[in-house]
This record gives sequence, structure tokens and C-alpha cells, in this order.
Amino acid sequence: MNTAQQATLHEEFDVIVVGGGPGGSTAATLVAKHGHRVLLLEKETFPRYQIGESLLPATVHGICRLLDVQEDMEKAGFMVKRGGSFRWGTNPVPWNFLFALAPELSGPTSYAYQVERMKFDDILLRNAAKHGVDVRENSPVSEVVEDEERVRGVRYTDPEGRVHEVAARYVIDASGNKTRISRHAGGERVYSEFFKNLALFGYFEGGKRLPGADRGNILCAAFDEGWIWYIPLSETLTSVGAVISRNRASDIQGTPEEQEKALLGFIDRCDIVRDHLSEATRVTEGTYGELRVRKDYSYANTRFWRPGMALVGDAACFIDPVFSTGVHLATYAGLLAARSINSVLADGISEERAFGEFEGRYRREYGVFYEFLSAFYDMQGSEENYFWKAKKVTAFDSSDLEAFVTLVGGVASRERALTDSAALAERFASSSKALSDAVAATGSMQTESGERMNHLFGAKVVGDVMQEMNEIQRRGVLGTATKESPLLPDGLVPGADGLSWAEPAAG
Ligand SMILES: Cc1cc2nc3c(=O)[nH]c(=O)nc-3n(C[C@H](O)[C@H](O)[C@H](O)COP(=O)(O)OP(=O)(O)OC[C@H]3O[C@@H](n4cnc5c(N)ncnc54)[C@H](O)[C@@H]3O)c2cc1C
Repeated sequence: MNTAQQATLHEEFDVIVVGGGPGGSTAATLVAKHGHRVLLLEKETFPRYQIGESLLPATVHGICRLLDVQEDMEKAGFMVKRGGSFRWGTNPVPWNFLFALAPELSGPTSYAYQVERMKFDDILLRNAAKHGVDVRENSPVSEVVEDEERVRGVRYTDPEGRVHEVAARYVIDASGNKTRISRHAGGERVYSEFFKNLALFGYFEGGKRLPGADRGNILCAAFDEGWIWYIPLSETLTSVGAVISRNRASDIQGTPEEQEKALLGFIDRCDIVRDHLSEATRVTEGTYGELRVRKDYSYANTRFWRPGMALVGDAACFIDPVFSTGVHLATYAGLLAARSINSVLADGISEERAFGEFEGRYRREYGVFYEFLSAFYDMQGSEENYFWKAKKVTAFDSSDLEAFVTLVGGVASRERALTDSAALAERFASSSKALSDAVAATGSMQTESGERMNHLFGAKVVGDVMQEMNEIQRRGVLGTATKESPLLPDGLVPGADGLSWAEPAAG
């Protein structure tokens, strides 16, 4: 008897989501919010460990607001991240950026969080159940049910070992980078020739914090063999990972003792991180006690959808972690897929058109980051070059620095759903003050090793940004909430609640 014949338990849903990470939970919740029947199948039992702890404002203020989890996020007490600090490129002096420098993010939404993924992913999954999603953990999907025309469902095994066959109008593959079903979308995974790195990471107690408003920043520091992330997860717990070229694979794939020696060696050769960890101890017990290795090769599937199926998050594509874009791309894709499904199920828009919009926007977001990151990895650059590149890839009519912060805040698409429109009025009332306070807070920042971290903030560009924001306020452009224009040629625009597509208004 084959697996198909063993499958005895049949059910039907509107949508099946495979995987309960941020991409899957987002898609499931936003489809359920339109009243559709959604089944989410997750292989593990939550909470479970995952890497990818540094979030962007677009996720925290855009997606989390649509998901109704902003309060849960505040209650969880995650570390507030106001920007990033880099020791990168030709400039030996570390430099910072603040999300407050992007007009889309200034004021009340100028921060994100550093999260323990066990807690963050659990919040999103429980929230999906709260919105009516049928969440089944410990239920791995083994097969996709399809015919020539479309994907029609999946088979999964329940905690008692029984195989179920479930039918649905749509299957979303959000099962992460190790997906075994993405090929059913009809394409294949193509790896980037450029980004082929490996990461070795662990956790430390008692690491130092950057001073003032930057204490929650992600710190990324280049050293001879690659770069290190330093992510403050709480007042005392820090996630530390070394990203190195695949040519050094043999250095980090030995016994746990050899891995520990390798990680401590990388830290030792990276001055600023060594300084920050000088009084810290490595966590050696519990979930955070293990040193882990991950390939972070970048890739994209050649197709993100076919009739009946869409790929979301790492199942579709992944890009190098230096700007913490993984969760943003996964949740943004979850939102785009939900809009397309909600539109088709409401008989509003054809499948071809709705999913064309999904794939077009998703690829564009991935492509902008990809192009920018390719330039960022050129260590021969200075931060001014990087800002200029950000402006080039986003094609924004703004200062270079503004374009950079808008991009790395995850709001380069300029989608209203990714910012908090309710905060607009408040933002413009307080924008100048919030920005000048934030700049003042970092303006006097010194590290213990005496390196200046803030030289950018004396720059004219900061004054220019503030002036520009006041100008926007004066014109009242954002305050009047004008209609969004299509992002793609002949494309669609988000509907009124942000959870479906609409034809753009004529004229
Ligand atoms: C070294 C490194 C550092 C990173 N740092 C960051 C960072 O700082 N910030 C950031 O935003 N991103 C970061 N990322 C990226 C981030 O980890 C991912 O992009 C993000 O977790 C993708 O979310 P997802 O929902 O697509 O998949 P996942 O979070 O991987 O979730 C997929 C889920 O699917 C489940 N699953 C798998 N197979 C099945 C199956 N057959 N049936 C049912 N369920 C299944 C899994 O158990 C899992 O829960 C980093 C990545 C790497 C490699």
C-alpha cells in the first residue's frame, strides 16, 4: 500500500499553510481575518529555537499592527532597536544609523526590536490560532497533492502517526530554507554565486551595551575573515555570530570544542566585539548553550507561485543576513500572498493578476536588497558610497542617507501597510523633536576603546533631513493620506484594509 492509499482522514480548507514561522503565521492570520478557513501545519512543537533575531521597523509597525500583536510585542519586553552600528568598509571608525532618519519611520515608529525567536514566533503562532486558524503542531507535511492544472492539497502525519490528506484552494509553502515541497511551485532554487557564506553563532551573558539610544542597536563589525553580528537580546544576553566565506568551512565544522575555539578566535581578531565581550561568559547550557552553524547562502526560486500554491519566506528566497531582512521578507511575502488569496477567494481579481502582483512585488523587494548588499560587501567602500548605492537601487528622490535608512528599515517599497499610518499625525507633530533628541543622544557617544561612533551625525545631511521633514509637514502631503499608486506597471494597489488587492483609481 502506498502513502496515498494509507491516507484515511480527509478534510477541506480554503488555505493550508505549511510552516508556523513568521512567514506562515502572517499569511495564515491575514487570510483568516477575511473569514476564510485556514489550516496551519507545523512540524515542531512551539516554542522552538530559530536564528534571525534582529527585526526591522516595517515588521514591528506594519505587519505586527495588521496582525494585532503590537500589544503582545510590547508586553514581551523585547530589546528596543533604534538602528544599526557598523565597523565596515574602508573607514576604521565605526558609524551608526538611526531609523529616525527615514521620513517613513521618524517619530513614534523609529524603532524595531531584537527578539528571542522562540518568543516572537510563539506570539505570532498563538495569535494565528486566536484569529481562527486551525494550528496543528507536531504535524509535518510530507507530500503535495497536485494534478497538471493546480496544487490541490497536502498529506501530513499527525502526532499519533496517522497520515491525513487535506484539500484546499491554496497551499502556502512557508516551511523555511529546508523546504521539501517548494519545487511543486514549478521552479527551482538558484543559488547566488556572490553570497556564499557560513555562520557560526552562540550566546553570551554579560556583554557590554553601546551607550545611550544605541544600546539596542545591532552591531556588525567586519574583520579580516568576514564579519560578526552582536545583537543585544536583553540587558544581559547577547547573540554573537561570525559570518565567514565558505572557503573557511573546515575551520568551523569540527567538534564542539573546535567550534568554540574558532568562534573565540574570530572574536579575538575583531577589536570592537572583543572589547564588548571582555567581561562576558559564553552560555553553555539550555537552548542557547549550543554553538550552531548555518549556511547562509543566498538563493531565490525561479517561480514563487503556480495555480494553487505560493512560496513565502525562506522557502522562496533568502538573502545574506547583514541587514536583518529575513523576517521582513518572510512577513512581507506573507502579507502579499494573503492579499492575493483574499482577492481571488472573493472572486474579485483573477488568479493570474493577483499572484502576478504577489510575485512582482516580492521579487522587487528581494532584488533591491540583493543589489544593495552586493555593493555593501565591497569592503573597499566607505559609508558615503553605501548610502549613494542605496539611493541608486531605490531610485528615491531624497538624500543618499535617507535612501539608505529607508531601505534598511524595510520600507523602500513605500507601502503604507508597512508603516503606521495612524501615527502620521503624531509623527509630524513631534518629528523634528524626536529626530533632534535622537541625534543629540548619539551625538556624544564614545566607546570604551575611545573610538568615535557618531561622526555622521555632525553631517549636514542630518539637518537636511530634518528640514525636508518639516517641508513635508508644511505641505501636509502624508497627513492627507493620498491614494497609493501601483508599484508595478499596470499593477494593483492594496485595498482599503490592506489585506486584498484593488484596481488603482482612474486618473
Ligand atoms: C546566520 C543567519 C542569521 C540571520 N539573522 C537574521 C536577522 O538578524 N534578522 C532577520 O530578520 N533574519 C535573519 N535571518 C533569516 C531568518 O532566519 C529567516 O529569514 C526567517 O526565519 C524566515 O522565516 P520563515 O517563516 O520563512 O521560515 P522559518 O522561520 O524557518 O519557519 C519555517 C517553519 O516551518 C516548519 N517546517 C519545516 N518543514 C516543515 C514541514 N515539512 N511541515 C510542517 N512544518 C515544517 C519549521 O519547523 C519552521 O517552524 C538569518 C538567517 C541566517 C542563516
